Amino acid sequence: VKSEEIVGSFLQRIEEVEPKVDAFLYVNKEESLKRAREIDEKKRSGGMLSGIPVGIKDNISVRGMQNTCASKFMEGYIAPYDATVVTRLKEDGAIILGKLNMDEFAMGSSTEHSAYKITRNPHDLDRVPGGSSGGSAAAVSALEVPLSLGTDTGGSVRQPAAFCGIPGLKPTYGNISRYGVTAFGSTLDQVGTFAGDVRDLALLTTSISGHDEMDMTTNKREKADLFTGLNKDIRGKKIAIAKDFLGEGLNEDARKNLMDMIEVLKDLGAEIDFIDLKLTDYSLAAYYIISSAEASSNLARFDGIRYGKRAEDAADLLDLYKKSRSEGFGAEVKRRIMLGTYVLSAGYYDAYYSKALKVRKLIQEEYKEIFRSYDAIISPTTPTPAFKIGDNTEDIMAMYLNDIYTVPVNIAGIPAVSIPSGKVNGLPLGLQIMGNHFDEQGILNIAYAVE
Ligand code: GLN
Repeated sequence: VKSEEIVGSFLQRIEEVEPKVDAFLYVNKEESLKRAREIDEKKRSGGMLSGIPVGIKDNISVRGMQNTCASKFMEGYIAPYDATVVTRLKEDGAIILGKLNMDEFAMGSSTEHSAYKITRNPHDLDRVPGGSSGGSAAAVSALEVPLSLGTDTGGSVRQPAAFCGIPGLKPTYGNISRYGVTAFGSTLDQVGTFAGDVRDLALLTTSISGHDEMDMTTNKREKADLFTGLNKDIRGKKIAIAKDFLGEGLNEDARKNLMDMIEVLKDLGAEIDFIDLKLTDYSLAAYYIISSAEASSNLARFDGIRYGKRAEDAADLLDLYKKSRSEGFGAEVKRRIMLGTYVLSAGYYDAYYSKALKVRKLIQEEYKEIFRSYDAIISPTTPTPAFKIGDNTEDIMAMYLNDIYTVPVNIAGIPAVSIPSGKVNGLPLGLQIMGNHFDEQGILNIAYAVE
């Protein structure tokens, strides 16, 4: 098949469903077709993703395209360079089809916090696709693009993957370069991947991963080939289920679904044990302190001078900062900046921020201990299936509680994948499989076996 035909058919699909789904903030039509023709005519070399379209979350820079982070602050900004993950995709022959909607600066769990539009869940247009990478998940789920990238600071790849009924992976902290990715919480952020099935997910992740000289937080490891060993037997694998993940707030059908999955895994020869992860209750609190503290510092660069929006009629420099930030940021972003600044301020630093760091250390130890005896931990990805648009926008805590099973993974820095697993009233549910540091291969093996 010619790449031009592949790209053409996805562009046509975008034209058909985009009016309903609203996943894209920008579609790169002409340039994509041109690149496809170049690949077909062998003017451009292709690798393992030769001629395959990929969608990119709008906080990952693609040269010549907008990078708004779904914020009014960055309206009209055009990225002058490629993020390393984009360079790698291009080297492998991928065609960057466009930029995808998200919660502003990746803060949120529903994509309702985008300053531009609300993306809808392709399984039910009255419901959210999840977030913050909601556009990336919805676009793949609606077959508008076969592969996409998102970012995951506390669940923003796995939660929308679960809500949209597709697989999504958050790799080990440091396995994927963040050069060219707009920072939110630097000790938690990872680029993650979406695809239609686990094989494609493994291919896409292999393409973008590995050490990068431009990002000193990347691990000095060879790029792992996640594709070749996918179909390994999972007989004898030791899998843990944390009782603390099955408490209050978990939807009854989701609980039943998890119990069914236990039987499937046992049939495949895995051993299952119930274990304790006692610090689970503290992870959400630690997450919102640490991520907001880091966000308040990372977002200081949006000052009205260097990037994006500059307020008019400012009296002096301080007023320019104030006005630009007041006008440019949405309510959720302001909330995080205020919370983050507060927990870092003199007098509160010890009470909140440094305590949260201690809690993080303890949570990391707890996971380390479990992985001494187990190959993986499984849980539901989210307590409930996708909620209705508007249902959680007033109740911030209800929104934050959505991340209860995904946040500990970022705190521990470990990899986790969400795969579709069962349905409630026609809405998809996700199964989360967590692994030890650098064991993407192990969790993808299990995902592939039960998919
Ligand atoms: N929903 C979480 C938050 O709002 C996670 C976001 C993310 O992973 N980027 O912070």
